[in-house]
Amino acid sequence: LGGSIARALQQMSNATIIDEKVLNECLNEISRALLQSDVQFKLVRDMQANIKRIVNLDELAAGHNKRRIIQQAVFNELCKMLDPGKPSFTPKKGKTSVVMFVGLQGSGKTTTCTKYAYYHQKKGWKPALVCADTFRAGAFDQLKQNATKTKIPYYGSYMESDPVKIAVEGVETFKKENRDLIIVDTSGRHKQEAALFEEMRQVSEATKPDLIIFVMDSSIGQAAFDQAQAFKQSVAVGAVIITKMDGHAKGGGALSAVAATKSPVIFIGTGEHMEEFEVFDVKPFVSRLLGMGDWSGFMDKIHEVVPTDQQPELLQKLSEGSFTLRLMYEQFQNILKMGPIGQVFSMLPGFSSELMPKGHEKESQAKIKRYMTMMDSMTNAELDSTNPKLFNDSRIMRIARGSGRSVRDVMEMMEEYKRLAKIWSKMKGLKIPKKGDMSSL
Ligand code: GDP
Ligand code: MG
Repeated sequence: LGGSIARALQQMSNATIIDEKVLNECLNEISRALLQSDVQFKLVRDMQANIKRIVNLDELAAGHNKRRIIQQAVFNELCKMLDPGKPSFTPKKGKTSVVMFVGLQGSGKTTTCTKYAYYHQKKGWKPALVCADTFRAGAFDQLKQNATKTKIPYYGSYMESDPVKIAVEGVETFKKENRDLIIVDTSGRHKQEAALFEEMRQVSEATKPDLIIFVMDSSIGQAAFDQAQAFKQSVAVGAVIITKMDGHAKGGGALSAVAATKSPVIFIGTGEHMEEFEVFDVKPFVSRLLGMGDWSGFMDKIHEVVPTDQQPELLQKLSEGSFTLRLMYEQFQNILKMGPIGQVFSMLPGFSSELMPKGHEKESQAKIKRYMTMMDSMTNAELDSTNPKLFNDSRIMRIARGSGRSVRDVMEMMEEYKRLAKIWSKMKGLKIPKKGDMSSL
């Protein structure tokens, strides 16, 4: 008996075994989170196996924050799974590209076509929209409405029932007009599924798109893989856009879509409006999948860079989730004071990619300074308001005049404010760890 106790004790003190146990527990916990985020069961299993191969148990034994080490490994692994290894075809401004959108009805294709067109138009492109959905009544009207709102030329027909014919005519028309981004919206439903895929094949063959984008609703759960695969088997899907990321879904289907199409996710849709469209950014996306706070790294950073006496106030504001223009102003001040952009705000998911893209630090600083000049012309009530509706035309005009900027500039800043406020609001109710208490992931 004595011998077996001794053996058991020895086993207990054998670091490798203890850490293997930690590893398994931790992986199981993470896997549960991933399944809840709709990551396909098979992909979770693959990830688990990979992590077990990668994580060095000795290193784990020596590390004081085991969970952190494991989570970092999982994080990296998921990032890798979202990277199919080669970038998608990227249209070039000034050169004609045809981009065809496919996806099931309701996935958000028509909305996303316009967002994609509008996104490029704002960057100086000349996009155009072609409605090749002849199946759904009202499809052309919907596209027309979106296109009109954003002043983007469109092509379609109420009479013609052949989607291939319309697609070809539309593409030809816009090629002649030297449009550089010709976007073809397609149907997503048919009486028979096989007929839908056959139609996609025909439209693709006839219009020879440079890129086919598969649009997927983030809330479809475990069905993601089969759906993505079905489209990939019919047409040469080259990129993925995940929609409705503003909802409850954490978007684990993205991993399935990447695996099934071997194509990268390029954008995500985050709302019904035209501007609610973001360049896909792997790291914040994976944080969200893991349900770890997108914010854990961010909180670390706050402790690191925000003066200690200002921390409690900032954390308080974070947990309230209300984001005023004054708060934005103060944060901009922080950013500028700290010199290199890449400090607090650049850590926030969603902030960096748009407001401060890498390699454009100079322009970003100039933009931030411009925003601050305009905020200098605001009243206290305006700065402390959390209601963008307060900013009616006359206020906008007054701010523009006062700061010597155009109304358009002020509107742009307000859009940016709304975007940041939305991200900020996600932190509402967040449990904020105190310094040195970051070990719980
Ligand atoms: P389609 O059938 O694939 O063309 O899908 P639609 O573009 O018509 O979109 C279906 C519905 O989803 C519409 O009510 C859209 O407003 C909505 N929708 C599309 N993208 C998003 C998104 O990113 N977020 C939210 N909340 N709704 C979206
Ligand atoms: Mg549609």
